[in-house]
This record gives sequence, structure tokens and C-alpha cells, in this order.
Amino acid sequence: MAPKETDALLYIDGVSVSFDGFKALNELSLFIDKGEMRAIIGPNGAGKTTMMDVVTGKTRPDFGTILFDGDIDLTKLDEAAIAELGIGRKFQKPTVFEQQTVWDNLELALAGRRDPLSALFQPDGPKEHARIEELLGIIRLESQAREKAANLSHGQKQWLEIGMLLAQEPKLLLVDEPAAGMTDAETEATADLLKDIAQEKSVVVVEHDMAFVRALDVKVTVLNEGSVLSEGSIDHVSGDPKVIEVYLGR
Ligand code: ADP
Ligand code: MG
Repeated sequence: MAPKETDALLYIDGVSVSFDGFKALNELSLFIDKGEMRAIIGPNGAGKTTMMDVVTGKTRPDFGTILFDGDIDLTKLDEAAIAELGIGRKFQKPTVFEQQTVWDNLELALAGRRDPLSALFQPDGPKEHARIEELLGIIRLESQAREKAANLSHGQKQWLEIGMLLAQEPKLLLVDEPAAGMTDAETEATADLLKDIAQEKSVVVVEHDMAFVRALDVKVTVLNEGSVLSEGSIDHVSGDPKVIEVYLGR
């Protein structure tokens, strides 16, 4: 049964989005609880990225309800206002400052829009320093703190960007295909890292890699043709005949 609107951190109900008559989202309904981590899977074109686009204000739904934190109507807000509310989004491609060190990237993210330039030239206060150290631990980059971001592996850059999002203290983190292009070891470490983060934040993660989704060990939503096809544990959804048909029928 669906929780009441006030219970869910993110409440998506009956959301539809069309592009030239093609329904990318078709009456999508999805509820994410406070403190929950949810994995979203589904074939290419299922609407996974579009779902993140409507939550972050990049795309406007044609119909439907999207509420955050009880009663905040996200369909009325622009991207900047939605980010400000505490919804952080990690895109597939990492966008770190390549010529800055890992430490400085985190420092810049901590300063945020307030004062990004002077952050680099002023010594950080003890509070800032402690938070950066904490973030380095979460993203497994303590030993790389003084490295230029350009020298990190692809996987490490993804982690750095996750750290930069965390620096802005989001309530909800949306992560689109974090394991794409990662080595097996990096994929495994990413699952652990997201599980750590999910102890404090709500996280929605879209991913294709089934080993990764299994390692997350959370409730899974399968999207297909813009709606929810199946929902439950990874064992439940991977045994669901509807899901098997969609994946094997291709
Ligand atoms: P997924 O992330 O699950 O692979 P997407 O949400 O990216 O799927 O896309 C769902 C469908 O909507 C696809 O068929 C895609 O081509 C289409 N689509 C997504 N964004 C746009 C857009 N801005 N304009 C036109 N079609 C789009
Ligand atoms: Mg996508």
C-alpha cells in the first residue's frame, strides 16, 4: 500500500511525460521513504533518467504529483530551487575540477555558491577541515587528498563527485548509473560507499549492473515503458515473470 503523502520523502504519483507524443513516463508512481535507499533498474529507454529529470526540475511533467518532504510541490519549482531544498543529483559523467586537488574540490563544494573563489585562498577553519577529512573517508580517497583530480581513475572521480554532492548536505541523493565504466573492484567499493551514505541520507540509484544492485541489498523498482513493472527484493523482481519477459524478450 502506498504511504500517506506526508510519510514519504519523495512522493511521485501518476506522473506522465511525453516527447512528441512518445510517453517517456506513463503514470509513474513511486514513493521513497526518509532514510531509504532504492535501486531502480529497467531496460534502456524505460524512463529512468527522465524520472530523475522530473524530480530535479529539468523536465516538467505533463500530469501528476511530485512532492518532497511531505508537502513541497516540486513541479512548481525550478532546478536551482529544487537543489536548494536538498536534492542532489549525480550525472553519469563526472564533472570534477581536473586541475584542482581532491581536497580543493571538496573544499570548493563545501563553500558552494557562497564563496567558491576565496575558499581556495583562505586557510580552512577547523570545522571545514574536519568535514573534508570525514568526506574523504566516506569516498575512500584519504590517500589521494593531495592528488590532482585529473590523476584519479574514472571510478575515483565518480567518488569524488559523490563527495562533492555530500558536501552540500542533501537530504536526497539521486545517482544515475554510478558503476558504468568501473572495474569490478570499483563497482564493489561503490556499492559499499553508497550503503554507508544511505545510513544518513535517502538515496535513489539507477543502475544496470545486476551484481551491483544485488550488493546494495535494498528494495528494487523495475521500470518499463515509463511505469513501474515490478517492485520488491532483488530476488522477487528477478523471479517475476513480467520482468523476465521484458529482459529476455529483447
Ligand atoms: P533510461 O534512462 O531508462 O534509459 P530515458 O529516461 O533516458 O530512459 O528515456 C526514456 C525515453 O524518452 C527514451 O525513448 C528517450 O529517447 C526519450 N527521451 C528522453 N529524454 C528526451 C528528450 N529530451 N526529448 C525527446 N525524447 C526523450
Ligand atoms: Mg538513463
